Amino acid sequence: DRRKKVAIVGGGNWGSAIACVVGKTVKAQSDVFHPTVNMWCRDSRKRGDTSSSIADIINYTHENPKYLPGRRIPENVIAMSSLRDACESAHILILVVPHQGIPQICSELRGKLQEGAHAVSLTKGISSTSENDVVKMQLISEDIEKPLGIECSVLMGANLAGEVADEKFCEATIGCKSLKNGEELKMLFDTPNFRIRVTTDYEAVELCGALKNIVACAAGFADGLGWAYNVKSAIIRLGLLETKKFVEHFYPSSVGHTYFESCGVADLITTCYGGRNRKVAEAFIKSDKPLQVVEQELLKGQSAQGPPTAQDVFEMLEIHKLTEKFPIFTSVHKVFVGEHGETELYDSLRNHPEYD
Ligand code: 13P
Repeated sequence: DRRKKVAIVGGGNWGSAIACVVGKTVKAQSDVFHPTVNMWCRDSRKRGDTSSSIADIINYTHENPKYLPGRRIPENVIAMSSLRDACESAHILILVVPHQGIPQICSELRGKLQEGAHAVSLTKGISSTSENDVVKMQLISEDIEKPLGIECSVLMGANLAGEVADEKFCEATIGCKSLKNGEELKMLFDTPNFRIRVTTDYEAVELCGALKNIVACAAGFADGLGWAYNVKSAIIRLGLLETKKFVEHFYPSSVGHTYFESCGVADLITTCYGGRNRKVAEAFIKSDKPLQVVEQELLKGQSAQGPPTAQDVFEMLEIHKLTEKFPIFTSVHKVFVGEHGETELYDSLRNHPEYD
């Protein structure tokens, strides 16, 4: 059997939505792909909890009631609680977990994968590594590649999970190192309502996906503070420029037109209007409650990646003495930790270095 077997690592909101896409594409191309897709779902039950695991619930009802209620997950998607069982037969791994979960998953999978397997990360965040006491930027896709010894592409785009599951038209960008893997992934994800473009500018694709969550938090603060439409548009424009500057600083070989792909301007707009990060940031700035409480109330166990990404980006900028060049990224982090208020956030826009 030369057909490629696919495993999805993660059964959250985005993992469940992408299972709806991939479950159908593998079935429609069963000469190329194995028609069943494994999906690992973390079993978050506490010891002594006798309720069913999320994997059992999905296999029984073909729905993920916790993270993607009301959408049907195709029957050829088989949910599993064992990470190793889900992944060891796979040729293509789709990683779609919050970035804090990546190290543990990779250490469990190390040495257990098929020869020639490759991965695609839908996870958003940044990482770091240190060499001779110098802290260096690292991509989440590199956090995956290094321990697993396999190539890892990325898929990012204007893709609100519920809309994707509902098969409403959208686009996405695949960033890959080898076009062979990029084209195979395009076959796996592309549908008439989920159109894919492939580029080798993978660092920019991945960082657009990660950094837009910080900009969306700034947009949410603007909404919560009742700021005007023009202000929010400026946040989106200046936020995209900070994203470009960040990519160019850490990855100077990046080509520079990826910002016009879905992962760039389109994902930024959709997330600044319809995303969970925007919603959490809006509620946070309007209330006195801690972020964790706001997040629990609004997202019910899902997580917004903007606040932890803002923290990681702030630390990276501090180390490289760059905070003044990235006032929006910096101010978003400082608002979340209580060091900035409305005035400082507003000033981060009005005094932006783009006007110097
Ligand atoms: P959040 O819902 O996590 O803010 O992100 C939305 C998104 O990534 C759309 O592409």
